[in-house]
Amino acid sequence: MATHNFSIEFFPPKTPEGAEKLRATRVKLSELHPKYFSVTFGAGGTTQQGTLDTVREILAAGEQAAPHLSCVGGSRASIRAVLADFKAAGVNRIVALRGDLPSGYGASGEFRYANELVEFIRAETGDHFHIEVAAYPEVHPQARSPQDDLQAFARKVQAGANAAITQYFYNADAYFQFVEQTQKLGINVPIVAGIMPITNYTQLMRFSDMCGAEIPRWVRLKLASFGDDSASIKAFGLDVVTGLCERLLEGGAPGLHFYSMNQAAPTTALWQRLVK
Ligand SMILES: Cc1cc2nc3c(=O)[nH]c(=O)nc-3n(C[C@H](O)[C@H](O)[C@H](O)COP(=O)(O)OP(=O)(O)OC[C@H]3O[C@@H](n4cnc5c(N)ncnc54)[C@H](O)[C@@H]3O)c2cc1C
Repeated sequence: MATHNFSIEFFPPKTPEGAEKLRATRVKLSELHPKYFSVTFGAGGTTQQGTLDTVREILAAGEQAAPHLSCVGGSRASIRAVLADFKAAGVNRIVALRGDLPSGYGASGEFRYANELVEFIRAETGDHFHIEVAAYPEVHPQARSPQDDLQAFARKVQAGANAAITQYFYNADAYFQFVEQTQKLGINVPIVAGIMPITNYTQLMRFSDMCGAEIPRWVRLKLASFGDDSASIKAFGLDVVTGLCERLLEGGAPGLHFYSMNQAAPTTALWQRLVK
């Protein structure tokens, strides 16, 4: 298991209490020795300072950190400034994204798609950053077609991405198919599977609708049948997601990226099942 590449994602806390809680979460999750912690970045720079502060804190604790950077709504000058801040903070790994502007945000900025951001980062900073990009085994919700989405992914790699992290999914076949298709296009960067632990039915349905992740019917029905019985939801979710992770790793996934939602327990429980 040590040869696998496990990483953990946080979002920047919005309050001092949230920051305190995240600190405790990180300390617990550090015991699992992830390869790095990534920190999301609100589209349009809405969490820019929070992302940077969180990354600085992770680095100061002696852990590896990778800020996300979303370009939508940004200008070349604003992204250049963020890159300079990241570099000055000692960052050498970035998750590069387009992002989604909150509704009513206005102008979409100077970057249209993530491949343009990757190209810009390479042009501005050469090989300083290891760049991860997003991949969508179940197809990005705005893609014109699965083929178009695959081509969009290929462009990000051609622009200089070193690796990819997928949107979360619960259907391992979608992942294996996607990886096979990328290999047919001659793309050989590691495509790490994004894993969302299942702990809360309502939240999972809401997120999944937004990002286009499919919850298999049998999983959805079982989760719904548990009602407010949070212990049963968590126990069943742990079984389902452990099975998914095992299948992915056995099938050759080069690593797992855990969407922790700033919680230590769900990721730890999964991890312990996987490494036992
Ligand atoms: C691992 C991971 C981390 C994430 N972290 C964040 C975060 O920190 N902050 C945040 O705001 N969001 C984050 N997101 C969400 C992400 O920003 C959204 O999914 C967003 O809608 C797409 O971003 P992208 O980088 O995949 O965009 P792109 O790769 O640019 O693709 C976006 C859409 O445009 C299409 N497309 C691409 N190029 C073209 C073209 N030339 N012509 C027509 N269509 C095209 C693609 O098919 C796709 O439908 C994350 C997603 C993942 C999987």
